[in-house]
Amino acid sequence: MNVQKNKKCGFTLAELLIVVAIVGILVAISIPIFSVQLHKARVAADWANLRAYYSEIQADYIATGKYNPEVPASDNTSYHYLTEITFLDGQRVELKAGKILIGKSKGENGYEIVYYCNEYLRTHNVEPHYYKCSLSLGASAL
Ligand SMILES: [Zn+2]
Repeated sequence: MNVQKNKKCGFTLAELLIVVAIVGILVAISIPIFSVQLHKARVAADWANLRAYYSEIQADYIATGKYNPEVPASDNTSYHYLTEITFLDGQRVELKAGKILIGKSKGENGYEIVYYCNEYLRTHNVEPHYYKCSLSLGASAL
């Protein structure tokens, strides 16, 4: 019988190191892509909430003809960033990736909302966050 007693099985150290290196490279590539996609998803969720909120407060303004005191809209002299919106039914929603300014339109046309993502507010780089993440609702951009 021809039995190999010292048959090598398993992997060599070099093979294992190559596999570990390849996995490391894949992880290093995927983490930035994943975090960019996560940011985009959070901004999209904020946009959806803000559009719903803007529709609600603008409809309220049109129906009543005056600004609702429950809407934290700045007068046109000072603005402060908000990280949370409270719908008129009391439901509170925290913004996931940015901040907003709410103002009263100069032309008495209701409200204006401007949204900037936190990355833009932190870095003030217009590319890509100002162009891709900012949202302006209402007559002008404050
Ligand atoms: Zn952004």
